Amino acid sequence: MKSLSRKVAEIAPSATIEISDRAAQMRAQGIDVIGLSIGEPDFPTPAHITRACIDALERGETHYAPSPGIPALREAIADKLQTENHIPCTPGQVIVACGAKDSIYEAMEAVINPGDEVVIIDPSWVSYEPCVQLAGGTPVHCKVRETDFQVDDSFLEAITPKTKMIVCNSPSNPSGAVMNDASLRLIADAAIDNDCYVLSDEIYEKLIYGKTHVSIGSFDNMADRTITVNGFSKAYAMTGWRIGYAAAPEPVAKQMIRVQQHTISHPATFAMHGAVAALTGDQQCVEAMRCEFDTRRQYIIGALHEMGYETAPAEGAFYAYVKTGGDDMAVSARWLAEAHVAVTPGTAFGTPGWVRLSYAASLDRLKEAMRRIAALSD
Ligand code: PMP
Repeated sequence: MKSLSRKVAEIAPSATIEISDRAAQMRAQGIDVIGLSIGEPDFPTPAHITRACIDALERGETHYAPSPGIPALREAIADKLQTENHIPCTPGQVIVACGAKDSIYEAMEAVINPGDEVVIIDPSWVSYEPCVQLAGGTPVHCKVRETDFQVDDSFLEAITPKTKMIVCNSPSNPSGAVMNDASLRLIADAAIDNDCYVLSDEIYEKLIYGKTHVSIGSFDNMADRTITVNGFSKAYAMTGWRIGYAAAPEPVAKQMIRVQQHTISHPATFAMHGAVAALTGDQQCVEAMRCEFDTRRQYIIGALHEMGYETAPAEGAFYAYVKTGGDDMAVSARWLAEAHVAVTPGTAFGTPGWVRLSYAASLDRLKEAMRRIAALSD
């Protein structure tokens, strides 16, 4: 047979999925594995959102829709971005896709040419690098400062004349850190000085504890070079709905729509009606979930510190990023094999020596997980 795509063969398989597969195999053998490796809220989607989707189905909203998304949703998103995030945005700049992941992929396809470099700030979410590679670009990694997980001047060393895009993600998966004004300013200035785009992944915007979310797209002179990505999976517990969006400068939006027209067409029509209800309905459900995550966060960070572990600043998302030192692959393998607790090694996020624990699990399960880890002998 002729050889398969080299571009795809070069992409690393997702480490997060590998761990959860191994945990699933153990569960199938009857082992009580506590899964702290998956980035998914454990709450049901709020009922009024589900209701709006069912209503849409019953009304017959089961046909093709405009490729960039239904007008009501694009309008609600543009309105949200303008009023909440202070990002200049028209509905025409919004593309609704199958999850934030799809939006990120489309943005990369729309902007990147072979040879273009994309700066990724580690620790970073597992799919940025593969999306860059699929789009034919070259990922260039740099690191946050380990003391506070902020960006410092060393980040500028990653910028070259070939840099086309900088990816930023705040609050961060995996670290939970929230970028401060100085970090965002540094990135914005680098983008302006070197004429590149910023892809700002703000999917954890609503899950933030004691900090304020700031969108880099609201900074002066950033509107025409920022692609803001967000979605419904985390804030509204809608991971399975596969609805996310990007707001992009008009020329980029046009390119993204072209990609979307010839690939996914659009997300499921009735699901988009549910998303309208999520954005335009009562936001109390979001705050209730955030408060519950905050309780778990305080518990797990306290328990980890009591055990003597250092953690990244847990200011957002639903992850504790824990310094294990040494071989994080061995630590996570041991925690799974001996404590039956599944976590994700930091190597998957570009920072060996750390592991990520998701606290999107009940407080009881988190307590049991901490008890089991504490009981492991050194
Ligand atoms: N960005 C980050 C940082 C994420 O953690 C995730 C989900 N794990 C996504 C994007 C993708 O989310 P979605 O379900 O909207 O595709």
